[in-house]
Amino acid sequence: MKNLEISVRSRKRCEMIDITSKINSVLREQQIADATITVFTPHTTAAITINENADPDVARDMLYGLAKLIPADPQFKHAEGNSDAHLKSSLVGVSETLIVEGGQLLLGTWQGIYFCEFDGPRTRRILLKRSEG
Ligand code: ZN
Repeated sequence: MKNLEISVRSRKRCEMIDITSKINSVLREQQIADATITVFTPHTTAAITINENADPDVARDMLYGLAKLIPADPQFKHAEGNSDAHLKSSLVGVSETLIVEGGQLLLGTWQGIYFCEFDGPRTRRILLKRSEG
């Protein structure tokens, strides 16, 4: 099966974008009922994570906390000036594995899937790869 791809457009330098409904749409379109799905973003200044999507303050606080943990630092040498974004990408990680059963994502009640932008705004790619199971 070919790789599935979705794209997202970020609007800010740092942003958490809930992509749960986009992934559910792909599952419906592709009639994926039982599988594991790897969600991967092929970028060095972005990430994929799963966390609470009920209270939007959680996503806001995650960005705030990451910025406190990894501030821009004048001692970074990388000429693009976005080393903080590279560090956040590796810390959060560029992929997640999802379980699909009976056509439904097995997520906790409060969980959503986020694309994490750390150096936007940009148009970004997200690849989905299905394994049977
Ligand atoms: Zn860079």
